[in-house]
Amino acid sequence: LTSGTATASPKTQKFLAHEHQLLIDGHWVPATTGKSFDVVNPADGTTIASVAEGGQEDINKAVAAARKAFESGPWHTMTASERGKLIWKLADLMDQHIEEFAEIESLDNGKPKAVAQAADVPLAIDLFRYMAGWATKIEGTTIPISVPYLSGAEFHSYTLREPVGVVGQIIPWNFPLLMAAWKLGPALATGCTIVLKVAEETPLSALRLGQLIQEAGFPPGVINIITGFGETAGAALSAHPDVDKIAFTGSTEVGKLIVKAAGDTNLKKVTLELGGKSPNVILPDADLPSAIAGAANAIFFNHGQCCCAGSRLFVHRSQFDQVVEGVAEEAKKIKLGPGMHPDSGMGPMVSQIQQDRVCGYLEAGLHEGATAVVGGKKHEGAGYFVEPTVLVDTHPQMKVIQEEIFGPVVAAVPFDDIEEVVATANNSIYGLAAAVWSKDISKAHRIAKRLKAGTVWVNCYNVFDASLPFGGYKQSGWGREMGHEAIDLYTQTKAVTVQLA
Ligand code: ADP
Repeated sequence: LTSGTATASPKTQKFLAHEHQLLIDGHWVPATTGKSFDVVNPADGTTIASVAEGGQEDINKAVAAARKAFESGPWHTMTASERGKLIWKLADLMDQHIEEFAEIESLDNGKPKAVAQAADVPLAIDLFRYMAGWATKIEGTTIPISVPYLSGAEFHSYTLREPVGVVGQIIPWNFPLLMAAWKLGPALATGCTIVLKVAEETPLSALRLGQLIQEAGFPPGVINIITGFGETAGAALSAHPDVDKIAFTGSTEVGKLIVKAAGDTNLKKVTLELGGKSPNVILPDADLPSAIAGAANAIFFNHGQCCCAGSRLFVHRSQFDQVVEGVAEEAKKIKLGPGMHPDSGMGPMVSQIQQDRVCGYLEAGLHEGATAVVGGKKHEGAGYFVEPTVLVDTHPQMKVIQEEIFGPVVAAVPFDDIEEVVATANNSIYGLAAAVWSKDISKAHRIAKRLKAGTVWVNCYNVFDASLPFGGYKQSGWGREMGHEAIDLYTQTKAVTVQLA
């Protein structure tokens, strides 16, 4: 094994060295083409594993397996309680391997192991437990009807909530295990069957999860896991005529391709969780120390590779310099280093492509006149590191203000009054998240109502729970993940009307 993996536990090393195949119909199989691709540790650019490169044929096989599992077989006849128990069992198995998952996530994605161990993995486990509970609580309603042209006739009408069917799920690389959980949890709770296409940058934790899925005893074909590329495996899944729904998390650009593929084929249902350019508004009456710490967390958590990252920081002009200095100080305190090193506060970007992308934005911003108070460039040497950056002197037309950077780069912008800041905050094609900091709670509630975003945090940031719906306004997406809304979106309603004799 390479030096990059040397610090990992023997369990993790053993897993990495394993032959990584596709999970189709309850079996681990190579790609039909026999092809595989390398997985790289972004902290040093070394190869840590090789995984099967699933393509069109493998997607076809996985969809056929998922269809068979949905229409017949044990999953189809399993009670809701039995389904719930299986999901819970998976969570219990994950509980026994938290550190291993955290190591895999750190080596594959770059994030600090401690962060994965404290956030990603427990959140994923919690999501499964939350959704396990939902399995037995999916209910229809009875509806009294009175049909004008059938006077005298008596009816009994009710609704059934039924699983959507075979779902294709396409996930990104920023929270590989957690995104798999957000997708799998509600689909399993509702009785759907799944073809999961994981991100090519970070396929490993989902493959480890696949081993536990097998161990938990999910029937064959219920969960199929495909590693492969977006333009091939992802596109094949989103265009497949026998997939009933695609749930996608990723860029807005690819989200549009998914919608197009659905429209061009079988009009499969689509839910999307896409990009963001989330505003973080600090009002003059905020508790400044916590607002400053919160603003730093909003952008630097997960290296800014969060769709809800607080990348536009709005601060009242009277406190602008103080807050910018405070956030810059927080940035300076962050130690860059490999995620597996216990002292690293921030790891590398997930890939060289991502490092280049973030640096491209930085160069464009600086070229257009922005100033980097701290950071502003990549970190030289091995690995795909970018310095935590605070930009000022921006103007509304700049790319760094308009577009999602998906890196540790915040643009701080002064404002003079609330009307102005609400309008500017809402001036984005995105609407995923927003935050407001104020001690005046009525004012904060009023502003929360006016911000066009699917999530608004007040005096906090990045607070997630399996019970809270998460998703976007505007071009940040369609539908919601987590909470009971996720259950709604993996079911469809059937109205049954019975004429009583
Ligand atoms: P990013 O730019 O952040 O990598 P993407 O939206 O490109 O985000 O990727 C998110 C997921 O979408 C990944 O699993 C990727 O393989 C997949 N993907 C990329 N392109 C396509 C496509 N044309 N069709 C379907 N899935 C795709």
